Formats: sequence, structure tokens, C-alpha cells
Amino acid sequence: MKRQKIVAGNWKMNCTRTEATELVRAILLNCDHSGDTLNLLFPPFPFLTEVCALIQEANNFKAGAQNCSAQARGAYTGEVSADMIRSCGASYVIVGHSERRQYFNEQPKELRGKIQQALASGLKVIFCFGEQLSDRRAGNHFQLVKTQITDVLSGFTPEQLTNLVLAYEPVWAIGTGETASPEQAQSMHAHVRKVLSDLYSTNLSDNTNILYGGSCNAQNAKELFSCPDVDGGLIGGASLKADEFCKIMASF
Ligand code: PGA
Repeated sequence: MKRQKIVAGNWKMNCTRTEATELVRAILLNCDHSGDTLNLLFPPFPFLTEVCALIQEANNFKAGAQNCSAQARGAYTGEVSADMIRSCGASYVIVGHSERRQYFNEQPKELRGKIQQALASGLKVIFCFGEQLSDRRAGNHFQLVKTQITDVLSGFTPEQLTNLVLAYEPVWAIGTGETASPEQAQSMHAHVRKVLSDLYSTNLSDNTNILYGGSCNAQNAKELFSCPDVDGGLIGGASLKADEFCKIMASF
């Protein structure tokens, strides 16, 4: 995957079915389709097929799931496999979101399994990582992010990595209204590129999309997206309002 501008909306556990379809229709109606920004929507599982159908004809829109199982299929009650997600028409999945790590205790081994399943099913992955406030205060944030990346990604081949988008999401900025400053985002994104180039190659690192996530909104997106190593955003709360999300898309 070559570097491109990406705006991704992570709806988390929000919306009824009616609200979900209304949100997609409003986004499609209000946003500018002519640009080259890739717009990704991540609705809850039950609405995935419908959202995929609604965006099918729309230029530069794709949908994905917020999670997938680390198992291929079988007796895993309540789990959703990467193959199922792909069969809904989706093309992406988010893996490693801090809420999954925190509330569902997802560990590197499981995250590796999820990425393996996703890639085997033909899905692209948005792999998330980011430090807690205590890590930043202690000055450990660069080392911690390096560990989060290497622990999960080091076994994958460079070819597999071309199907990954990375998302730096400092936990202290998620849903708090306190966003990272453009300087904080840029220095971490540059660090992530260095980690990737040490792990793989400069070529791979130069061509990997790295998104910023954490209280990104219509007011701060322009400044964040203008940082040289920030390729776009993973948007939570602000992706649930069509006008706000469209303004973020127009921020490049
Ligand atoms: P937020 O969430 O934009 O509501 O902070 C971002 C995310 O969790 O992906």
C-alpha cells in the first residue's frame, strides 16, 4: 500500500441500525467525494453488511470491523472471524485498540493471531498502539510504543506489512478531549517510522500509512494532518456526527 490520506471513523459500541444507516447516508450526502482521501467506516458488526452495501458505489469509501477473532472458525461462541467480516463486503479490521487491550485483556500473542487471520482472509489491518499518561510522564512513551510494535509485528514479512496501516493512539487522548499536540504526534510518528525502518527497511517505513487517533476533531484535524509523518486520523467520537466527520475529511 502506498502512502495516502486516510480518515477512518471508529463508531465503537454506538448506534442502532436506523442510526447507523442514517449516519452513512448523511456522510455520503455531505462529504466531498472528488478528493483522493480514503474514507473508512468501522460500524459495529451487525451493521457491517448494510454499511458496505450503502457505500458500494461511493468513490474512496471502504468499511471494516472493529475487531476479529484470532481463530479461523469453529466452537468459539460469540466470536466473529475474519472470513465472516470479509464475506460482508468489508475490507479492513482494527486490531489492538487500547479499549480491547484494556477491557478485554488482549495481549501481543492474541493480536498477532488476529492479524494473521485478517491477512489470510484478505483484509487490511489498522494496528493500534499508544502509551498511557503514566508512561508519558515517566518519559517511557517512545520505548513503550517501540515494544508494542515489535512485540506484535516482528514475525510478519515485509509483504504482509504492506497490508497494514498503523495508528498511534495515546490512551490519555482517547475520548478525553485532550488531543496530542501536532509536535507530540509528529515526534511519535517519526519515531514509529524509525522503528519500522530498523525492523524492516526505509522503503517499507516510508510507504507505511500512520494515522493519529485521540480526540481528533474538525478543529484540530488540519494541524495534525499537516505533520509530515501523519497520514490521517482514526476518529472516535467525532465520527458519529456526519457534518463533523465530513469536515475532518476535508481537513487535508
Ligand atoms: P476519540 O477516539 O476520537 O473519541 O478520542 C479515537 C479512537 O479510540 O479511535
